[in-house]
Formats: sequence, structure tokens, C-alpha cells
Amino acid sequence: MIKQNNKSYEKQLNHQDVERYDITIVGGGMVGMAAALALSKYDLTICLLENTLAENDTHPSYDDRTLVVNRASICFWKNLGIWDELSEYLTPINKVHVSNKGHFGTVIFDAKQLKVEALAYIVEAKVLGIALKQKIEDHAAIKVICPACVTAFTSYAHFIEVEYDVNHDKKKLTASLMLAADGVQSFIRKSLQLETQIKSYERTAIICNITPELKHNNCAYERLTTSGPTALLPFVNNRCGFVWTLTNEKAVEILKLSDRDFIQQAQTQFGYRLGQFIKVGKRSSYPLYLVKVPRQVKSRVILLGNAAHSMSPVSAQGLNLAVRDVAMLVEVLICSIKNKIDIGADETLNEYQQSIELDQNQTMKYTDDLMNWFKIDESLVSGIRSVGLLTLDHMSGAKSELFTRASGYRGKHTPPLLRYR
Ligand SMILES: Cc1cc2nc3c(=O)[nH]c(=O)nc-3n(C[C@H](O)[C@H](O)[C@H](O)COP(=O)(O)OP(=O)(O)OC[C@H]3O[C@@H](n4cnc5c(N)ncnc54)[C@H](O)[C@@H]3O)c2cc1C
Repeated sequence: MIKQNNKSYEKQLNHQDVERYDITIVGGGMVGMAAALALSKYDLTICLLENTLAENDTHPSYDDRTLVVNRASICFWKNLGIWDELSEYLTPINKVHVSNKGHFGTVIFDAKQLKVEALAYIVEAKVLGIALKQKIEDHAAIKVICPACVTAFTSYAHFIEVEYDVNHDKKKLTASLMLAADGVQSFIRKSLQLETQIKSYERTAIICNITPELKHNNCAYERLTTSGPTALLPFVNNRCGFVWTLTNEKAVEILKLSDRDFIQQAQTQFGYRLGQFIKVGKRSSYPLYLVKVPRQVKSRVILLGNAAHSMSPVSAQGLNLAVRDVAMLVEVLICSIKNKIDIGADETLNEYQQSIELDQNQTMKYTDDLMNWFKIDESLVSGIRSVGLLTLDHMSGAKSELFTRASGYRGKHTPPLLRYR
């Protein structure tokens, strides 16, 4: 699949009628689109290839999931000119209430105490996906080909050649660099035979909207239970996004319940902090995995988004981390261009790989700890957890430090796209 240094083929190709770009992006999910927009500000020719039509209900970037957008990501979307367009669909989180089911001890994060306008915001994935698509369609520098399914690619000394199908018609393009944002089952990652470490938690997350009797008052609840963490996220029209982690067997049972029985079980799990649950929406389920790809670059290709890492939605970090990777990528590419280095060369790829490792490792460890620590059901551990929560609640410095990390800021390593301009 990967050929190198084939000079005669390169010469031949230059004379053929094959479109040439600086960057081609495979996958027009939220991450592929974010990368296209972030890079469109620099004098680069970009082609985005997406397989699924946006109107299709099965498109992964157009489902009903609610996304927690942290503060660094808010800067990112603002700098891309997306945030203001979302304003009427956003729900601020003013408080986060963390508790340990069946035990004492809570931690409360409060926007007022932390002197911020909101701790984070909630937006529906569908709303963000549609806003991104519209922005891209209006952008002259980004060519979008959809539906286009990438079926093969070959790397050469000076470019990468990409083959794709458009309605059974085979086409080709070339680029200096290919960004693979083609999702967790990434065809490109598999073709490159990049090592992929998959850890199953043997847990399933059930996601749905729930309307409680009392006002949520923009408070998010995280409950740590023996089957894993459970979250209730404030949303528009007093709806809440419910994320319930269960063993795989239990999830099968719960998914079969009638709405009335489901509400009863969810209520037992969450408690009555928001009164009775009145209404429940469509339920979806996601098996929980941690997908780690230690090396995310090879032969003129960089993996992004779910193709590069995937984690439990319970920590609400997947997209937040992916946009930080994109912000870092922009920095690395600008630097290569300034120094007249080929953007697809190993030197650029290695620089990018180095720049994202620490943040990715820390974020994945945080998510993994959250999934592992709280599934242990021992009274001593539960006691320590409760004491830990109580202590943390009284340590404003520690809370502020935790909040800064969860907000996506990485001190002096925070790239400009993640800062207010
Ligand atoms: C229930 C749930 C809740 C979540 N909550 C949060 C949250 O609160 N905060 C947060 O930060 N993250 C959250 N996440 C994570 C977030 O949704 C993902 O990180 C994000 O959607 C990843 O997007 P992506 O573009 O990388 O992948 P995808 O959305 O999977 O997009 C991949 C795209 O590639 C296309 N494609 C695939 N193969 C090809 C091919 N061969 N040729 C052309 N195109 C191709 C596909 O059609 C698709 O459009 C959540 C995830 C889930 C499941």
C-alpha cells in the first residue's frame, strides 16, 4: 500500500489530470470539519472527502447526543466563528455537583466561586454539526466532495495519492498531507497498520433525555456508583441529558423496559434531587471502550479525532481533546510552512506526534481512572472516596486547579486557537 521514492511515477502523475491539494481530510464528522475550518485561514488548498450525506439520519455528527463543551473548546469554536451562531442553542452549566451514591461526601464546583461566567456549556451534537457544515459550504478555500468514500491511498516521496468512490465512479487526488478523521473504525489507521490498543470496560452507557419535575437551575450532576459514573446534564426546556453506565448484561435488560419502568429505574439510580422524572426521550446505547493509538502519524498521514483516540463519554472529553489536537496541529503546520519544511514530511509529522502526547495521555488516564476507580465496591474504598470528596470540597485551590485542567487549558502549552483573542 505504501510506496516511497518512486520518482518516475511522480513525474508521470504531474502530467495527468489529477487534482492536487495541500491537504486532504478524510471524514467530515465534527473533527474533520473543525480541522478544515481551522486550517482554512492559512493559504492552503484543502479538500474534504466525506462518505455519508449530512441529511442521512445515521450520520455520526448529526445525532441527538448532548456535548459538554469546555472553556478551551469554547475559545476554539469562537476563533472559528462558530460559537456566536450557536448562542440560542447553548445551555450554560453554572454548577457541577459530584456525589458518591449511598455514601456521604459531595463536591460542588460553582461558576461564581471560580469567578467564571459558566463552567462549561452544553450543545446538541446535531446543532454543532449543522453549523460546521454550513460554515464549510460557505468557504471558498475548502472543497467538499460528498458522498466520497476513500478506498485506497499510496504515499510517495513528495505527495500522497488518494483514491475515492463517488457513486461507484473511481476518482483520484493528490495532496502533501492527508488528515484521517474517519472515525473509530478508521480504514486509514487499519491500512497503515498503526498499533491500536483497545480496552473494553465491559460496560455500556445508556444515553437519553429526561425531563425532571423540578428546575435543573443549570446544575450538572455526576454520581459515582458501583457500576460506573452516572451524569445528568442541564439542557434546554428544562430537559436533562442522562448518561447511565451499566454492566453490558444489565444494559440489555434496561433497554427493553417500557418508558414508565425505565423512569422508575433511572430514578432509583439518580435519586430525587430534581424531584420525580416526568418524561424520557429515545434511548441510545454505546459500549464503552478506551481506544489508544500510541503512534498517530505515518507516511504523510496524521490521525485525528476518534480515529486517533476514543474514550468513554462519561468524562465528556472526546471532542474537547480532539479540538485541542487540531489547535496543536495548526501550530505545527504553520511552523513548518514558515521554515519551508514539507507539511507531509516525517519532520512535521514527528513534531505533531510529540506535541499531543502529554495532553492525550493525561486526558485518557483521567477518563480511565474515572471508569475504573468507581466500579470497585468496597466499603473502605467508598469511605476514602467520600472523605476525598468532602476534603476536596473544602480545598478551593485544589478545586480551582482541577477545574482549570478540566477546562482544557495546558498552561504555556495552550495554543493560540484555544485562547481568547
Ligand atoms: C454518547 C456520547 C456522548 C459524548 N459526549 C461528549 C461530550 O460531552 N464532550 C466531548 O468532548 N465529547 C463527547 N463525545 C465524543 C465525541 O462525540 C467524539 O469525540 C466526536 O464525535 C468524534 O468525531 P469524529 O469526527 O472524530 O468522528 P465521527 O463523528 O465518527 O466522524 C467520522 C466521519 O468519517 C466518515 N468516514 C469514515 N470512513 C470514511 C471513508 N473511508 N471515506 C470518507 N469518509 C469516511 C464518516 O462518514 C464520518 O462522518 C461523546 C460521544 C458519545 C458517543
